[in-house]
Amino acid sequence: MINIVLFGKPGAGKGTQAEFLKEKYNLVHISTGDVFRYNLKNNTELGQQAKEYMDKGDLVPDQLTIKMLQDEVEKNPNATGFLFDGFPRTIAQAEALESFLATKNWKITATIALAANDDVLVQRILERGKSSGRPDDQDENKIRNRYEEYNQKTAPLINYYTQKELFYSVDGIGSIEEVTRRLSAIIDDFIDK
Ligand code: AMP
Repeated sequence: MINIVLFGKPGAGKGTQAEFLKEKYNLVHISTGDVFRYNLKNNTELGQQAKEYMDKGDLVPDQLTIKMLQDEVEKNPNATGFLFDGFPRTIAQAEALESFLATKNWKITATIALAANDDVLVQRILERGKSSGRPDDQDENKIRNRYEEYNQKTAPLINYYTQKELFYSVDGIGSIEEVTRRLSAIIDDFIDK
């Protein structure tokens, strides 16, 4: 069982890299952003509850997000590993993930951040917004707010996981293949152990 957490600010390339890593390591990919967007689109109760936060670029409250994540994991009883993309984003989520995994005798193998400069990322997101149709990708104020949320609530996780000796970071700037290689080098180390 390998459980990888992929960190990165909006636009850092988590989704793109996750597509490659899930194939390569046979992981179930759970993107909390994708699950929320799916629920928004289908106007489910969860979607309605998450909408006001997502529209502003705020984080969805922990309680809702944690429950949703657990449900997604439970849908995959035969998984041999998970790739968590966009979760955890707060200390409370990280603690909940750890205790939830522990109930199954699972642990986080590693958390890996895709590092990149904010200005490069904002430009990337605005570019993506032209085709993604995501309202939170099209307005620079909303994008900046997502960075604020990251800096305030998600950045403390770097310390949290560093203390647990689970934190790694790779340069997120480069070709898709280069970045995949950097990520794979870290994951391969755990598989060899
Ligand atoms: P993303 O696609 O990962 O950028 O997520 C899009 C939006 O979904 C975020 O701006 C949040 O509103 C919400 N979201 C996704 N993941 C989480 C999470 N782990 N905690 C709280 N909100 C989240």
